[in-house]
Formats: sequence, structure tokens, C-alpha cells
Amino acid sequence: MYEKISIPEIFGMNVFNDAMMREHLPKQVYKELKNTIERGEMLNSSIADIIANAMKDWAVERGATHYTHWFQPMTGITAEKHDSFLTAPINGKAIMEFSGKELIKGESDASSFPSGGLRATFEARGYTAWDCTSPAFLREDAAGITLYIPTAFCSYTGEALDKKTPLLRSVEAVSKQAIRILHLFGNTTAKRINVYSGAEQEYFLIDRTLYQQRKDLIFTGRTLFGAAPPKGQELDDHYFGSIKERVACFMRELNIELWKLGVTAKTQHNEVAPAQHELAPIYDDCNRAADHNQLVMEAMKRIAGHHNLTCLLHEKPFAGVNGSGKHNNWSLGTDDGQNLLDPGKTPHENAQFLVFLTAIIKGVDKYSELLRLAAANPGNDHRLGKQEAPPAIISIFLGDQLLDIFDQIEHGGATSSIQGGKMRVGVNTLPYLKRDATDRNRTSPFAFTGNKFEFRMPPSSGSISGPNFVLNTIVADVLAEFADELEKAEDFNTAVHELIRKTYADHKRIIFDGNGYAEEWLQEAESRGLSNITNMVDSIPYLVDEKAIALFERHKVLNRVELHSRSEILYETYIKQINIEARAMIDIASKQIRPAIVKYAGEVATSLAAMKAAGFDASVEEELLMEINDNMKAFQEALKHLSEVTQEAAKLKNNSKLQAIFYRDQVFKVMEELRKPADRLEFLVDEKAWPFPTYGELLYNV
Ligand code: ADP
Ligand code: MG
Repeated sequence: MYEKISIPEIFGMNVFNDAMMREHLPKQVYKELKNTIERGEMLNSSIADIIANAMKDWAVERGATHYTHWFQPMTGITAEKHDSFLTAPINGKAIMEFSGKELIKGESDASSFPSGGLRATFEARGYTAWDCTSPAFLREDAAGITLYIPTAFCSYTGEALDKKTPLLRSVEAVSKQAIRILHLFGNTTAKRINVYSGAEQEYFLIDRTLYQQRKDLIFTGRTLFGAAPPKGQELDDHYFGSIKERVACFMRELNIELWKLGVTAKTQHNEVAPAQHELAPIYDDCNRAADHNQLVMEAMKRIAGHHNLTCLLHEKPFAGVNGSGKHNNWSLGTDDGQNLLDPGKTPHENAQFLVFLTAIIKGVDKYSELLRLAAANPGNDHRLGKQEAPPAIISIFLGDQLLDIFDQIEHGGATSSIQGGKMRVGVNTLPYLKRDATDRNRTSPFAFTGNKFEFRMPPSSGSISGPNFVLNTIVADVLAEFADELEKAEDFNTAVHELIRKTYADHKRIIFDGNGYAEEWLQEAESRGLSNITNMVDSIPYLVDEKAIALFERHKVLNRVELHSRSEILYETYIKQINIEARAMIDIASKQIRPAIVKYAGEVATSLAAMKAAGFDASVEEELLMEINDNMKAFQEALKHLSEVTQEAAKLKNNSKLQAIFYRDQVFKVMEELRKPADRLEFLVDEKAWPFPTYGELLYNV
């Protein structure tokens, strides 16, 4: 039986949050730290000792023995190295200490993290720097309690080696430019702009005992073989279906852990594919949201084990059913609480809203390839454009109300806004429902959803820092252009109107409210000149073209060297991932599938001979044996071929771009060639003879 819990009592109890800081810090120190956190002012290092000591006392009181600088290297996941609070004993007595220096700066041998050539291995120093805008927290597990300090990670020479640094820099950039626009509109109370993000996280849960029998899942996170089960997702009976008890128990434990960490776990439900689920927190400042999303992913994986489950975060764990994504809901707000993307009741009169909206439209159109890249990883290549996730073409959904307003603006001026109104369900006992002014569109990669944009392309296993820092930077860039232009204007109102009209006219090709899954959209998008980048490898060059370098350098988000290192890391990631998949396939095919089939075919052959000897017609056995034999030949051919192309790929190691292309066009293709006969063979043999659990077992055993 479950124990009663009180969310208000446990929420944030493991976080050194504002209330804790106020309680544990001297007033002046607290005030200075708050100024840094809220206004981005430089932190006075002399107060660091006081903060560190308070943090340590708070953590030790709660049972912590260690602390760690927690950072987000380019692997996309997090990294940590634990130190105990113990310092040199005095007269044999242990002393627990934590200095300001230890809080602010960490040093770690960075040579084993991806750097894309930024750092030679002999220059191994890397630094972690305290990010005081994301609160420190205690992580509890069966092994004990550790104080986690969110940090940024950079090289000896100061280049960003992580996902957090560009995100923080991009928030500064968009804040600075958005404030200029607000000033022009006479809003002088806002000092800073916050970027908000709410990340809906999709995931699969499967039985751990079955998982452990699948080398492909263990090594690559996805199944490399597996025939379709008799039932997939065609009945639509899993989406929003009642949550099974074992899954609900997992969700409960997960929620409790997240609430203690101050993560606002809010919504949970079953997703479209069997065994697929989703968790969404309440949106937060995008830096904290990115940290929290890492905590969500880590907690999901760990807590699943407590229920003999395994959590799969891969974008496409199973062929033939939907995979997982991560919707990044994004908006801009002032530090005094105004959502800049809130259209209000009469958006046609809301010029400030329309300026921000057109800036986003222009930014997304001008830099669509960068957004596409921000959603790219090897797993997402299986989803985007495959009728289960948005197409690989970036477009914006605005909805009827805003489309109508832009249409009016284009034709002279906007005088009205379509209203939502009320809706009757047709049964007297049911209440009237308030209808939104705009319907949703599930096929759009970038959809306006009332007072925020929902970027629906990002991969389930990736960090949301990438999508957010790209969005922030491209919007900052256009806001800067707008501010330059409007600051010069003689008649502000006329200039604003003209700016909105012209920008919309120039960039409306990016707006598409129709069905993104339809074949016609591909042609239509092409005729509009929109890019359709179908895979990760093709998206990487856009990160280092002169347009992107100029953009990121203009706003001091990433410099040329950092961008080149990142593009190198992306190629490497792709190459390594596909190489591991190919090697796992070779391993499974040669050591598990082939021996099983050889053995089974032998049994069929024996039975065939016996039937014949006994004078029976053995046509069934003959037919079966023939089909097994044909498929085995194709299987063996493909297996040899895969070994060859993988070896050939290895030779291209001096040119990562060419090597990545080779993996995509050759290795990946042969992997599919090998899978086909293997999946057919799975059908032909006795289920007891198949060497590992099938899709049917994996998807329907929780
Ligand atoms: P959906 O209906 O698209 O599945 P959910 O309600 O599950 O959406 O999740 C929507 C996400 O968007 C939540 O994380 C929510 O907190 C977040 N969100 C809501 N308003 C904003 C906003 N203004 N800015 C950013 N995110 C927001
Ligand atoms: Mg959503």
C-alpha cells in the first residue's frame, strides 16, 4: 500500500533554494547573491566563502558526505566527480570544509570529454564554473547523499566545452535585444528578459529481465532486429489509456524524487506506442529547465530499476511503432511578469506582441537550418519526416486568428481579431466550453500554441540546451535589427506597422498551417524554397557556414573555433553511434541468430529425412527448409557485406565529414539489408528457438 504524501511538504526539500539561502545566509550576502542571480550582476568573490560554508552546513546537516560540480559536456548527458567535504584531519579528528574557491571553480582532467579538436590531450585542463542561477541540490540514492552544484564547463583557454555556456550566453543576448524593443514601446520597468521552457519528455518502459536479454538495447538503446508483433499501435488504445499499476508505481516514485529536487513534475500519461509514456513539468527559466530535464532523464533511468523496469530514452527503440521526442515549449517574459508572446484578447491592437511574433517568424525563416540542426541526432533520423513526428522541413504554424491578422495587415491594416467564443457539446448537462481562438496542429514542427511556441522536433534523449540557445540567438539577432531600425524612426507607429507588414511579406513562406505529413507539403515546401534536411549528417555543415558563424559571434554565443569544434563533435557522434550499431548487429547476427537458425534448420532437416524415410509426403518441411535456407543465404551475404563496409568506413578516419556520409549511405543501408532476412527468419522458426525476446514480449510485458 502506498504511503500518503504531501507535495507542499516535500517540494524542493533537497534544493538550496531561495528560502534556504535566505535562512542560511547573512542578509547582505543573500542580497548580493540575489542581484547576481536575478540581474546577472558579477558575483563578488569575497562572499563566496560565506555561501560555500552555508551550503556545506545545510548539506551536511541533511546527511551529505560529498559534493560535486555537475556539468553538461558535449556528450549531451551530465558528468560529475565527487569529493568528500573532508579536509586534512587535525590531531586525528576529521574536519568538514568547503571553501568559496571550491564552490566557484573546479578543475578536472577534461581530455576524456568530446572537444572536437579544441584541446590537444596534453592540454588536458578543463574548468567548471559555478552557475549560481540554477540552485544547488542534494541527490539521494541508495549509496548516500551528495551536494550537486550546477556548473558550466570550459577549456584552459576559455572556450565552452559544454551545453550550458552557450545557453547562458544566448539568454543574455536575447534579453539585451528584447529590452531595447520594450524601451521603444515605453516599457521601462523591465530590467531583464527571461526565456521560459517546458520540456515534454517521452520515454518507453520495458521489463528489465527481458531488456537484459537484448544486446542491441544494451549497446545501442534501440532494437536492431525484430519482426513486427501482431498488434502495434493501430487500435489507438494506448494513448491516454489507463496507466498500468506497475507503471503508476514507477511514476509515483519518480514524481516524489523530482518534487524533492524542485522539479515541477505535472502531467503524466500513456503515449501513442505500446509501452510509451510522457512526463511534462511546469515550464521554468530555460537554464533551470535544461538542468531539470537532465535530472528527469537520469531519475527515469535509475528509478525504473527499482520496479524491474528499464527506461528507454532512445528516439526510435522499436521499428513500426512511434518513437519518442521532446517538445520544447518556449516563450519570452519580462522580469516583472509579462509574457511577451501573450497576444491578449485583441492581438491586432497589440503591436508589441506582433513585433516579437514577426521577429520570431523572420528568425526561424532566416535560420531554419540551424533549428533543424538543433533537433538532429542519429536517433531522430528515424522519426523526422516519417509520419510520426514533424517533417524534416521547418515551418511555423500560426493558427487562424494570427493568420487573419497578418492578412489584414498585408492588405492595409488590421482592425479585428477572430474570437474563440463558446461551444456547445450538445448535451444540456455538460457545461459550455470556451473555445480557443485557434485549433492545434500536431504535424507542425514549430507551432504557436496560445502564448508560447512549441518546438516539436527535438530528440527525446537530447539536451534542450541546443534548441533553446539556437532559438534565443536567432530571435536576438532579428530583435537587434528591428531595434536598430525602430530607434531611427521618425514616426514610431508608422514604422512599426511598416516593419510588421514588410517582415511578414518577406518571410511568410515559412508559415504553413496545413498537414505536415501530407506528400503535397514536400512539393509545396520545395517550391517555396524551404530546406528539407532529411538527416543529421546533412544538417551539420550549417553550423559552420559563414552566416552561422557571423550570427553566433555577433551575439557572443559561440565563436568560430567553438563552432568548428561542435561540428566536429557532431560528426564524431554520428560516426560512433552508427559504428556501434553496426558492430552490435554483426555480433548478434553471428553469435545469436545464425547459430540458432543453423540448429533449428538442422532439426527441420532431420525431421524431413525421417518423414521421407517413413514414406510420408514431406512437402511442408521441404518448403519451410527452403525458405529458411533462402533467407539464411541473404542473411549471410548481408552479414559479410556489413563487416566489409564497416572496415572500409574505419579507413576514412581522417575526414569526419566523408566518414559520416559513408556511414549513412553505406553502413546504415547494409544494416537494413541484414535486418530484413533476420526479421523474416524470426517468423519461420519455432518461437522457442529464437535467441532473444521478441517485439511482442518487449512491448506487452509491463
Ligand atoms: P501538450 O498539450 O502540448 O502535450 P502539455 O500541457 O502536456 O502540452 O505541456 C505543455 C508544456 O508547455 C508544459 O511543460 C507547460 O508548462 C509549458 N508551457 C505552458 N506555458 C508556457 C509558456 N508560456 N512558456 C513556456 N512553456 C510553457
Ligand atoms: Mg506538446
